[in-house]
Amino acid sequence: MQRPPRIYADFNAIKYPTDGSSYALLPLTGYGTLASLSRHGLRLTEGQPLILFEPNDIECDATAHFEQTRTDPVGTLGEWVALISKNEFRNIVGDEELSLQHPCFGCGVDLNTQEPPGWRSYKEVCNVCGTPVMAPLLPPSAA
Ligand SMILES: [Zn+2]
Repeated sequence: MQRPPRIYADFNAIKYPTDGSSYALLPLTGYGTLASLSRHGLRLTEGQPLILFEPNDIECDATAHFEQTRTDPVGTLGEWVALISKNEFRNIVGDEELSLQHPCFGCGVDLNTQEPPGWRSYKEVCNVCGTPVMAPLLPPSAA
């Protein structure tokens, strides 16, 4: 079996459900996560296995899930989240540097080098090929 892709995540955003569910929930819409998905050339699909990590901190196994009842950063209904088994977190020590590159999902050009600055509003498209920066996080219905 192929090893799941290792994706950066912001664990500060994790939510622990109060309904007795055995899964914690982590929104996958942060910009660091978006850039990481783009570096892997990975567009999320329902049930996609992932390894989520925060450099020099923790990692965990997770499953991608499109949650219809949440709204994404642009305000559209539906948001990708990771389902994480509680108590499945592993401590990691500096085994991976976090790249700052954010390659376009379409053509691979580094979006961080494009103008204008301050483009991080989740609505931009690549200046070169027109691919939306949100391409890795499009809803399943757009497939
Ligand atoms: Zn492009």
